[in-house]
Amino acid sequence: MNDYYAILGLERTCTAEEIKAAYRRASRAHHPDLVGSTPETVERFKQINAAYEVLSDPQKREMYDLGIDPLAPGGTPGAGSGDRFTGFGAGFTGFGDIFEAVFNAAAGAPRAGQQGPLPRASRGRDQLERLSIDLVQAVFGGTATVSYSTYLTCGACSGSGCAPGTRPVSCAACQGRGVRERLVRSLLGTMRTMDPCRQCQGYGSLITTPCPDCSGHGRVRGRRSADITIPAGVDSGNRLRLTGQGEAGPAGGPPADLYVEFKVRRHPDFVRQGDDLVARLAVPMTAAALGATIQVETLDGPHGITVRPGSQPGASVVLEGLGVTRLNGRGRGDLRVELDIKVPTELDEAQRELLRRLASERGEERPDAGLSPAHGGMFSRLKDKLSGK
Ligand SMILES: [Zn+2]
Ligand SMILES: [Zn+2]
Repeated sequence: MNDYYAILGLERTCTAEEIKAAYRRASRAHHPDLVGSTPETVERFKQINAAYEVLSDPQKREMYDLGIDPLAPGGTPGAGSGDRFTGFGAGFTGFGDIFEAVFNAAAGAPRAGQQGPLPRASRGRDQLERLSIDLVQAVFGGTATVSYSTYLTCGACSGSGCAPGTRPVSCAACQGRGVRERLVRSLLGTMRTMDPCRQCQGYGSLITTPCPDCSGHGRVRGRRSADITIPAGVDSGNRLRLTGQGEAGPAGGPPADLYVEFKVRRHPDFVRQGDDLVARLAVPMTAAALGATIQVETLDGPHGITVRPGSQPGASVVLEGLGVTRLNGRGRGDLRVELDIKVPTELDEAQRELLRRLASERGEERPDAGLSPAHGGMFSRLKDKLSGK
């Protein structure tokens, strides 16, 4: 992106007066007719004019400060005609043919187009809609219908903006040219500049009897819907572009695109980690000690999980290929089931007696006495290290 502030030698905090002054300075200092017309000086001069066009227009400057170049092709509606009225630079012919030739070469296009009326129709704006889907849809894909509010081409006037049976009339003020000539005296002599006609805002025509449905805009607010295919593997933040499904353009202009951004809802049992799914399974202490096969409900249906005898807290069982479909089409991630080993609580007397017998059997009635290095545990290992064993 061009650094328009740097081109004019300005700080980002500069005032409108400073922009004007800097532009005047720079355009005098770099005028191709004064410094010699080479591709470089012409390019430089064009940049100065572009910088002024953006920074002198509060709306464009704000956009630029947000990181969008309003003059970039396709950046904004009407960006293509953006350098139409740069006042000093474009369209003045005071220096005669040489200067016009310089500009023709610089612009790479005939200037004639810049002196005609502005087209009323322009492309609509792209639109973003968010769509909430559940985890099953994200994993396996699916279909959905997105319903959204947008601009639709006015049905009553088919986008022309004119009441039925009427047409725009040619603007008398500019004879339909959309521009008015003005002579400006400056340091460089008297120059002819083109300003947009105020009467018709540069369109060259006036809608004298606007369509009552759209007040002459050629489009109305309304709802529309789009059927979409949810790609298997999408995640929150992924976007789908639907060409031509965005806002209809003003005055019958072409429609923009609709972007659908997915938001995957939380699932009560499964958490997504990239292409993997993670779940927690409550396993009774006895099952962890003895081993067991436990039936669980996965997104693919019931599945047996083998808990190996002696499974420890923090252990997990991986079910390969039961995770999220990979967006690149290369299979699926895994489902990792973390074992949440439950120590029994609320024991009755008989159960307590059973556990006491187990403890006695294993020599664990007095855990402090029973701890040996082989028994494991942080403390015993630490003790080994300290005593140098
Ligand atoms: Zn209408
Ligand atoms: Zn006019």
